[in-house]
Amino acid sequence: MSSAVRTLSPDDETEEEKQLMKKWNSTSFFSKLAWRNIILLTLLHPAALYGLYLGVVSVKWSTIIYSSLIGYWSGFGITAGAHRLWTHRTYKAKLPLRIFLALANTIAFQTPLYVWARDHRVHHAFSETDADPHNANRGFFFSHMGWLMLKKHPYVTTRGRKIDLSDLKADPVVMLQYMLYIPVVVPVSFFLPPLLVSYWSGDPYWNCFFVSLTRYVIILHSTWLVNSAAHLYGNKPYDRYIGPVENKWVAFFAVGEGWHNYHHVFPQDYKTSELGGYKLNITTMFIDAMAWLGQAYDLKTVPDHVITGRAERTGDGSHKPQESHYQNNNTVISKSKSNIDTSTAKSMSNIDTSTAKSL
Ligand SMILES: [Zn+2]
Ligand SMILES: [Zn+2]
Repeated sequence: MSSAVRTLSPDDETEEEKQLMKKWNSTSFFSKLAWRNIILLTLLHPAALYGLYLGVVSVKWSTIIYSSLIGYWSGFGITAGAHRLWTHRTYKAKLPLRIFLALANTIAFQTPLYVWARDHRVHHAFSETDADPHNANRGFFFSHMGWLMLKKHPYVTTRGRKIDLSDLKADPVVMLQYMLYIPVVVPVSFFLPPLLVSYWSGDPYWNCFFVSLTRYVIILHSTWLVNSAAHLYGNKPYDRYIGPVENKWVAFFAVGEGWHNYHHVFPQDYKTSELGGYKLNITTMFIDAMAWLGQAYDLKTVPDHVITGRAERTGDGSHKPQESHYQNNNTVISKSKSNIDTSTAKSMSNIDTSTAKSL
């Protein structure tokens, strides 16, 4: 796996980065491998395949249905929680919903909310550069899961320090999950769901355990597809100059997160897409339901004319204006936010560096 095309200017390198890059370039590929993740991911996949086998030949339908429901819940912990709420602040959530999503996120076991949101903000700020944790210029496998098997490029850490994380630090739900994560995540993610499923369905615990591993691996790959396929295969109705694309298959598997060209242009939209429909965006349905229950509020979206104007200026010509029918009465988009685009990196790089220690 070769080093990525460097799209950040070497002229901008600090003295610290120059030293780190010298060391990085002289380090062998073998020494850059993250062995713990390699071993865990290698063991996980055959176990998940065994769970799939049990799902086909052995367990009851009710085990599959209950496991799927837990899968959707944990998926919302990533999409509605880590992504749309905590990374991008596309809506606000009351305490019960934040606790519900933090628990769901713990079941999903994809690093604590604080780390997930930090990495994703770095991804948006420095998309497809060496400072992007899953830089798609390094190929499908790297951006999909290979980035978890390698040590971070020095730029990911040094440039990532410039990202403001003060809102995450101010949220007690995020910080409590962060503090409790290590002792709590394995029981909550691996042992509790099969216990519940086994109790509800009557199937043996260990059969439910392996089916749960299958559910876990499906959610992992669905999330990873957003970083890989949704940066490589699809059209660019909103901005043809950036890498992210619209991909309905990713939207299907990642419950609404495949409209990635739109999302990188308008990251403040709680729908992460222009379309208002729920069919390929179940996460939006979930957030709307939470809004109806009074748990989610201040849902942000983007006015139609801003979307259409942007598509006309920078899109690849595949934008269909007739699909742009969704308007939310709760629109609270600000002028400055509507201007967020590929220049986000520049503005974010100016963000207070006081959070350096957190990375
Ligand atoms: Zn995002
Ligand atoms: Zn992306």
